[in-house]
Amino acid sequence: VLASLKWLARHQERDGSWSVLNHVEQCNAVRKGSCGASPGRQDFTPGVTGLALLAFLGAGYTHISRDAHDGIVFGDVVRRGLQWIMTRQDAEGCVGPRTAAKYLYNHVLCALALSEAYGMTASTLFKDAAQRAVDFTVAAQNPGKGWRYAIRPGESDTSVTGWAVMVLKSAEIAGLEFPRGAYDGARKWLDEVTGDDFRAGYRFKGSGKTIIRGDNELFSHHETMTAVAVMARTFMDRRRDATIAGGCALLARDEPEWDGGEADFMFWYAAALALYTAEGPSSALWRRWNEKLKTTLVPRQRTRRDGCADGSWDPVDRWSGEGGRVYATAINALTLEVYYRYVSAFTGGSR
Ligand SMILES: [Zn+2]
Repeated sequence: VLASLKWLARHQERDGSWSVLNHVEQCNAVRKGSCGASPGRQDFTPGVTGLALLAFLGAGYTHISRDAHDGIVFGDVVRRGLQWIMTRQDAEGCVGPRTAAKYLYNHVLCALALSEAYGMTASTLFKDAAQRAVDFTVAAQNPGKGWRYAIRPGESDTSVTGWAVMVLKSAEIAGLEFPRGAYDGARKWLDEVTGDDFRAGYRFKGSGKTIIRGDNELFSHHETMTAVAVMARTFMDRRRDATIAGGCALLARDEPEWDGGEADFMFWYAAALALYTAEGPSSALWRRWNEKLKTTLVPRQRTRRDGCADGSWDPVDRWSGEGGRVYATAINALTLEVYYRYVSAFTGGSR
């Protein structure tokens, strides 16, 4: 985790953001060359900036941390990142331009970073921005349903809905305000897309594999939406019922593999969070799956021998065509932080 944070710190833009494509301009010549061109869509720069900040916050670093690595103070990294997010917030609380494709992804990831930063520090620097980001998250929900790419677009999907629930849960823990009825819509959406076999669909029940045509259709299908649904239900209700247990059994059968189009960092993140929080750290399901996760993920992290790429993961999974090396590194760091980022929902404590 520390190596990945050091890579992120070295590749932050001067303005405080992390750029999906241009982060290679920050590459450190002293460490031998560049990380190489990254795939990705520049539109998602606010989203990967939120993810990168969540990786620091999840490891316990805030804007007041004095820890320095490679001459970079982590507290400064976090402060500059959060300040950048706040300068990208509009009058209604939306972070990032509404002209960007799928702009609600950018918003929810930045809203989560603001809310966690406020929850950890109670700093007045972030309270207003965090509250307004939560307000916009609530405003963007389809009435009585879930969320999708824009403000109340009529249709919902389970992926954005999962992140929005995380924003609300974080807001609840941080003492920010929102109407609890927002959870009812999320539950209703999840019930609507969950089948008798406990699989949760993306846009509808039984939707199966989700692809971006011309980009990732060769990658394998995983029960990512089931993982997101289990995670969201667990965070909202803190109750392990048959739907959650059935979903976890499906996840546990799909053990992490890297080769042959199997790599899916988003699936591993959501499944790790779902299994750890719903089944608990001492459960057999979690322990066996996590052993496979560790032996799949950790040996693929770039090391000192790889020069500037040290600490990062190559952007080669199913979703790297969207978020590039910053996404790959931040989300894998978050996956490895699952042990301490949230305590098990059923063994006491909220975080
Ligand atoms: Zn680099």
